[in-house]
Amino acid sequence: MGKLVELTAVSKVYNGGQEHAALDSVSIGLQAGKATAVMGPSGSGKSTLLNLIGGLDRPSHGRVVVDGTDLGRLSEASLARFRRARVGIVFQFFNLLNNLTALENVMIPAQLAGASAGDARRRAADLLERLEMGGHGHQYPARLSGGQRQRIAIARALINNPPLLLADEPTGALDSHAGDQVMGIFGDLSRSGQTIVLVTHDERLARANASRVIRLIDGAVVSDRDETARGTVAAQ
Ligand code: ADP
Ligand code: MG
Repeated sequence: MGKLVELTAVSKVYNGGQEHAALDSVSIGLQAGKATAVMGPSGSGKSTLLNLIGGLDRPSHGRVVVDGTDLGRLSEASLARFRRARVGIVFQFFNLLNNLTALENVMIPAQLAGASAGDARRRAADLLERLEMGGHGHQYPARLSGGQRQRIAIARALINNPPLLLADEPTGALDSHAGDQVMGIFGDLSRSGQTIVLVTHDERLARANASRVIRLIDGAVVSDRDETARGTVAAQ
């Protein structure tokens, strides 16, 4: 199977940041249909890695190719289109718009991608149903629990059927019950063939939901294990 994501010697040095690189010449390939966990201590570069894969930021050096597209060759406008169509992103603190209902939050990416309001509404309602949030579409995020908000955010990330789903510590702000529920959703999505890159601090959740675990320290890959095969994937 082909690689959905290919990073080649990717480095990131933030302007005004410290001297050392947030990511230091990272090369990894991710196969379509697999769930990969990215772990490592705070500040090790996990979010930076995710943001580069998702086209939210650009590398200082190196190449990021996602679904056959070299992100470095895209203009800002094309990169924005790429993000809308090809990736869904879930954040620790949900990033929902508080003045819109749950359903409207989920509809937004579909409408930005050109879907009619009716079509976006239907797809959003279907997804909320699938995530057992069907009864909450009319509610505003402030009225929902953390776990419910995260399920809204997951629905929003999935509405354009992105080949790639990225999540940055999606259970980091949840209690353990809500966290388990959200992780269960990622597990279900993974079993249904969704390609996922999941940043998490939780060893147990990473092992339960990802077939591969990549560990970062100080911006470098220090281990890269295929947990299903119990073998080690060459860290290249
Ligand atoms: P993690 O997600 O693993 O906690 P990050 O990718 O957020 O790590 O950060 C990696 C390194 O880059 C850290 O040293 C952090 O302080 C730095 N960093 C992250 N974002 C920025 C930024 N926008 N500007 C400057 N430095 C940053
Ligand atoms: Mg982070």
